[in-house]
Amino acid sequence: MPIVTRRTLLAGSAAAALAAGADPIAATTPPAGKQTAGIYRYKIGTFELTALYDGIWYRPITDKFIRNAPFAEVEHALADAFMPADKLATPFTTLVVNTGRKLVLIDTGTGGQIAPSAGALRRNLAAAGIDAKAADVVVISHFHPDHINGIKDKDNGVVFANAEIMVPAAEWNFWMDDANMNAAPAEQKLAFRNPRRIFSDIARRVTRFQPGAEVAPGILTLAAPGHTPGHTVCSIHSGDQSLLVLGDTAQHPAVFARHPDWQAAFDIDGDAAVATRKKLFDRAAADRMLVTGYHFPFPACGHLIKTASGYEHIPVEWQLVP
Ligand SMILES: [Zn+2]
Repeated sequence: MPIVTRRTLLAGSAAAALAAGADPIAATTPPAGKQTAGIYRYKIGTFELTALYDGIWYRPITDKFIRNAPFAEVEHALADAFMPADKLATPFTTLVVNTGRKLVLIDTGTGGQIAPSAGALRRNLAAAGIDAKAADVVVISHFHPDHINGIKDKDNGVVFANAEIMVPAAEWNFWMDDANMNAAPAEQKLAFRNPRRIFSDIARRVTRFQPGAEVAPGILTLAAPGHTPGHTVCSIHSGDQSLLVLGDTAQHPAVFARHPDWQAAFDIDGDAAVATRKKLFDRAAADRMLVTGYHFPFPACGHLIKTASGYEHIPVEWQLVP
């Protein structure tokens, strides 16, 4: 049997190309040079869900990033997840739920105000054929900028002009409190000023809800504190199907599902964040629930399984029909 080496293979294909009269350098189809729309549709019972990609931010991190693990372990975890050594891959996926009666958006993306590699929500909404003005309800999981900035455009105009904006009361109470802002260290002041920029002039359209509230028929909220004091997740039910919308219960699963005990610098109460993460992940794994996470790789939905040391995220298979 002849042995095929890379050299003979290349020589062979070059000879074949020459024989066919083709110039191996000149491609007949120019590269597209741009990405396709970031849209994924699936169903929960009769509800149609549309995952919309806002983009990704490679968040620079330092040895302070994980409070309770040696940095060498963190670097190892990033390498295991094929991430750059000093950056956490942070994708953003928002979710539109069409219940048949209400069009509900859960979290609003970065509004193009966090990284040039994110801010595609409105483009993807349009590509999905969804008019932002048709949204009846916008539900916010918590007040970090990557979840609320998309409420407005860069000129402070409201994007979802006809929607009721529903926010966890505990988030409002924490971030809009002047005493909390004044007590915060200098580097955290912006995190308090930003929700004021977003909400102050539209406060009359904002409804504050308590965990347990049904923000739309079939969409229940659930307290998930730790990441922020009022961080809230949703469970969506239609027919005999359900979906747990985890928000920022964990960031990228290749790091935080595998290391559920890790307390990141952006978790305001690290112990509570870990307890919430394990409680929700245990439930999702035991009940084999479909879950989606705001910072999970697009389309951000799949299942969680329990492993010896943590959890692993198994992404959904792309379906041609929702
Ligand atoms: Zn986030």
